[in-house]
Amino acid sequence: MPRYDYRCRACGITFELNRPMAAANDPATCPAGHDDTTKLLTTVAVTGSAAAPAGGGGGGGGGGCCGGGCCS
Ligand SMILES: [Zn+2]
Repeated sequence: MPRYDYRCRACGITFELNRPMAAANDPATCPAGHDDTTKLLTTVAVTGSAAAPAGGGGGGGGGGCCGGGCCS
């Protein structure tokens, strides 16, 4: 289950919640009971898919320079 960081605008603290991804944008309540919170951007699960090198050679000329003959 991913972990999300939230910040309470009432008391200024940040806190973490483990919740399903489907509930990531649901209102969160800070440990002090305030509901005026905002979700912070976290690095969890942000990288990993787009940053992975396209190994395998099945590109079909999509993004590889060396696939279209410009390197020769
Ligand atoms: Zn608070």
